[in-house]
Amino acid sequence: MFIELTDHLRCPADHAEQYLVLLPDRIVDRSVISGRLGCPVCGRTYAVTEGVAELGESPVVAGRASRLDPNSMHVLLGLSGPGGYAVLVGSAAAGWDAVAEQNPGVALVAVNPPANVMDAGQVLSVLRALLIPLKSRSVRGVVLGPEFAVDPEWVREAARVTLPGLRVVGEGTPPGLESLELLATAEGCWVASKR
Ligand SMILES: [Zn+2]
Repeated sequence: MFIELTDHLRCPADHAEQYLVLLPDRIVDRSVISGRLGCPVCGRTYAVTEGVAELGESPVVAGRASRLDPNSMHVLLGLSGPGGYAVLVGSAAAGWDAVAEQNPGVALVAVNPPANVMDAGQVLSVLRALLIPLKSRSVRGVVLGPEFAVDPEWVREAARVTLPGLRVVGEGTPPGLESLELLATAEGCWVASKR
């Protein structure tokens, strides 16, 4: 996990949004390999193991291959220029390396990715949790894998963490959510702008 991502993490417990304090054991090239994250409100601690922040269990969902190839993801996310973070949830993270290549300087965060997606230091942080464990309005975009895009809770989470005016991309039925303005749908995919 990229050490600077710590500033954007939130405790996943059911209380008002709260930052987490990092107690690192091992850091290599600004990437946290092992350590603990502690919440000053509820006292819970979470492990960082082999570079992966374990903020809860990955939800059990049937894995489904994404219809979105990395190039479509890049176009739909519409990130222009370096800086900040973009989040890929579930199977959307499978093609993270191609997304990274097309968006130099944007740090990627994979939430509950397939098991073969490993932490890659500053370029890709891996988080596991029952929600998106990031602060509200903290990222430049979110792509939901199809297995998460069908769950209204995860669509709400994607909208919550995205900065106003930036985009959430998903597959399946477009969301009818007050905080998301639908921009387009095509071939079973949708793209919406955070209000
Ligand atoms: Zn807490």
